Amino acid sequence: MKIGFIGLGNMGAPMAANLVKAGHQVAGFDTAAPMPEGVVKADSAAAAAAGAEVVITMLPNGAILRAVAAEVIPAMAAGAVLCDCSTVDVESARAVAADARTAGLGALDAPVSGGVGGAAAGTLTFMVGGDAASFDKVKPLFDIMGQKAVHCGDAGAGQAAKICNNMILGVTMIATCEAFALADKLGLDRQKMFDVVSTSSGYSWTMNAYCPAPGVGPKSPADNDYKPGFAAELMLKDLRLSQQAASSADADTPMGELATRLYETFVEAEDGRGMDFSAMLPRFEKRHRG
Ligand code: NAD
Repeated sequence: MKIGFIGLGNMGAPMAANLVKAGHQVAGFDTAAPMPEGVVKADSAAAAAAGAEVVITMLPNGAILRAVAAEVIPAMAAGAVLCDCSTVDVESARAVAADARTAGLGALDAPVSGGVGGAAAGTLTFMVGGDAASFDKVKPLFDIMGQKAVHCGDAGAGQAAKICNNMILGVTMIATCEAFALADKLGLDRQKMFDVVSTSSGYSWTMNAYCPAPGVGPKSPADNDYKPGFAAELMLKDLRLSQQAASSADADTPMGELATRLYETFVEAEDGRGMDFSAMLPRFEKRHRG
């Protein structure tokens, strides 16, 4: 298949490389990043998109996605599919899909879970919004870049799933970290705490698979001085998207709101920038109630 790939940063580069390895022809464009091996560099986003059956974007945010989409949509061949894999706000995803459909194109929002490791290994999970015909067309590419693709519904449903998932992730990471800090003060051994909670009703992905306490549970960024992993500022980005969505949909999300405020303080006023999001644990260790 002829594929245009726009945005070849930490995630996009290994995703595009996997498509090349599987035998697809990939033309790429990025304003800064170099092309991975086998991706043919185009001079512009429009040039990467011209003649492609599927155009994939993997960009930092909704404003950049909207600008890139305005450039590539007129350049795309009739019937081609614009597939955005970035994490962006639901409104931008829906606006871009509407513009693509008006131009006679298919459109999908297909954000991912699995991080840079999953992108390199081809084990991402795609959560996909858009029409069924476009999903079927791009599914073989999802199967190369990932291990699972869930068609969640119409345009914006993929971003909705991503934002809800990551709101749970932010809230449960904070809950797990504050519980470890409380356990410390109560004199409870961390390993014992893990042994109990990981097999009791407090278990969660943040406890069982990504334990924020160094030396406890499976290997995680906590065992590597809290180097990301999943950076606290990316967690903050996704929590802010959840709150933007909650406000536009009039949904009450008090825990999501509090998690957003905590990560905001951690990243912007404390030492969270550049740390993994599980570094909330050393943050709580240093703090007292009063
Ligand atoms: P990144 O900053 O490494 O990559 C983004 C790339 O887009 C950069 O190379 C940048 O030069 C390029 N770019 C910016 N503006 C452009 C434009 N106008 N035209 C062409 N290229 C442009 O970010 P990333 O970590 O690859 O993340 C990409 C997206 O995936 C984000 O939306 C992020 O939230 C999401 N995501 C990231 C992770 C992760 O662990 N890194 C996990 C899941 C989802």
